[in-house]
Amino acid sequence: MSKRQLAMVMDLNKCIGCQTCTVACKTQWTNRNGREYMYWNNVETYPGAGYPKNWMELGGGFDAAGDLQAGVIPNLEADYGVPWDYNYDELSTNNLIAGNAKPGFSPNVEPTWGPNWDEDEGAGMFPQDNYFFYLPRICNHCTNPGCLSACPRDAIFKREEDGVVLVDLDRCQGYRYCIAGCPYKKIYFNPKISKSEKCILCFPRVEQGLPPACAQQCVGRIRFVGFLDDEESQVYKLVHKYKVALGLRQDYGTQPNVYYVPPTESPAKFDADGKIIEGSTRLPIEELEKLFGPGVHDAIKTIKSEMQKRKETGESELMDILIAYQHADMFRLDNNYYQEVAKSKGNRLAPPVDTRYIVGKHTAGAHAINFYHGGDFKAGGHH
Ligand code: SF4
Ligand code: SF4
Repeated sequence: MSKRQLAMVMDLNKCIGCQTCTVACKTQWTNRNGREYMYWNNVETYPGAGYPKNWMELGGGFDAAGDLQAGVIPNLEADYGVPWDYNYDELSTNNLIAGNAKPGFSPNVEPTWGPNWDEDEGAGMFPQDNYFFYLPRICNHCTNPGCLSACPRDAIFKREEDGVVLVDLDRCQGYRYCIAGCPYKKIYFNPKISKSEKCILCFPRVEQGLPPACAQQCVGRIRFVGFLDDEESQVYKLVHKYKVALGLRQDYGTQPNVYYVPPTESPAKFDADGKIIEGSTRLPIEELEKLFGPGVHDAIKTIKSEMQKRKETGESELMDILIAYQHADMFRLDNNYYQEVAKSKGNRLAPPVDTRYIVGKHTAGAHAINFYHGGDFKAGGHH
């Protein structure tokens, strides 16, 4: 159990499936060196097979008695898909001039599966009752991580200061029990170095006053980041105060620390004549219950009643948070805290590169921060 837990909330009502988060992560951490097929952040269409294919059916996690469940290691080709490139060489200018190029732009291997293979397909019958929504996923930095429990080498650890779950690459021998043990299949095997790798919640960025890349770049402003014990953080308010943000598949027993505001609105169904069926909704509540547990009913009720309150009175703290007027309010990274932790370990962190997001339980407002003075970091004063 870590001392504090850094957490993320994603508001699914606002995700537009643009994959900016995916690209932000991919370009920062996983675009080469055996990580080509890895998506530490992916955004899948729900309902759908997801990434890796059918991850919800591959086991891992814990049963009600707290025992680790057997799991399957996804197959590289069949379940993740071979990352393909395109026939750029054949289309090079010289080949085109020589008339050698194949007609058209095509993958350099025959792809059979990959991330977002079933994007936007969803379920139901068009146009009567088809539906889907986007489900962005990263490692949940679980309180009771299945990956950690499954590792016989003690190569996976949860950072005491913020609960970030990491792989110690010096200890990892590439046994891959962690992949079977994670019910979310959010830890990957790097075939080039024979070790497991995973989302690191961008801890080097967080320690420098920057939110995780996926969250900072998110076009829909759906991602909030903060500590769960920081009552001023929007993360705390969404998870604990209003209880509208819920863990994904809590039945897996790993106590995930990424939370989701469930989708609350969906269009009405059409009848056979193409007329709206009044009072109907396309998104089956059973699907949301499967993903987010029974708490989803109250969460939706709270969101709807706060929407109504906002319409009637113009006031609602919850709606203001979810609208996310100010990017800076969405992230509270508590930079003094990280400075104190580093100091206690005899280390020294460089000053934050961005002061907009550094406030937190131990860190006063951004404008009241002093940076290093003779090697000492002070907060709360003025230059
Ligand atoms: S989501 Fe999976 S990889 Fe991440 S901490 Fe939980 S069990 Fe481990
Ligand atoms: S960047 Fe934001 S809105 Fe776009 S897909 Fe990712 S989570 Fe959704």
